[in-house]
Amino acid sequence: MRNPFEKEQIHDIVREGLAQVLGTPVSEITGDATLVADLGAESLDLVEFRYEMETRLGVALPKSNVLDELATALGGSERLYDERGGITELAAEVLRRSAFGYTEEQVHAGMRPYEVAAAATSAHWASFTHAIFDRLPDTCTECGAGETEIAVSGRAVCAGCGAAVEAATGDEVLAEGVRVALKEIENAQPVG
Ligand SMILES: [Zn+2]
Repeated sequence: MRNPFEKEQIHDIVREGLAQVLGTPVSEITGDATLVADLGAESLDLVEFRYEMETRLGVALPKSNVLDELATALGGSERLYDERGGITELAAEVLRRSAFGYTEEQVHAGMRPYEVAAAATSAHWASFTHAIFDRLPDTCTECGAGETEIAVSGRAVCAGCGAAVEAATGDEVLAEGVRVALKEIENAQPVG
């Protein structure tokens, strides 16, 4: 089933959700304002934001993060950090290839993990949330229809029967993105 949302629609919803959680005017939540440093978000705010998105869109944003998933995929964190505790080029490259869409200015080798977490903006969360809706089942599990639409409630539903579409979870999208990125990087730089 096709993603019924435009990227910009999801970004507006993410910005509204963040504005509500942070008690900040939507106008201040620009695409390049970092949630932690610029907007003062704390970890509890991000828990609340996840809940907001779940309520509003019916999606489960990830509880895990890219670096933790990468450690799981590699069976340990040896290749993730340099001797000073900064992330390696491999870790930075996986982050940039993730659905969050970090640029080279935003995420680079040598950054500390907390700096990576602090680099997130509403645009990154919008990009990730939109990517979740790129992973819908082929057809509706209720009626077999293949088309989607956005219901009055604002949620993505089956155009045939109105049933809620079952998107992948954020953690699934995150883990899959890490696996794909690792494979792409290996293919681009053959060992030896
Ligand atoms: Zn249906």
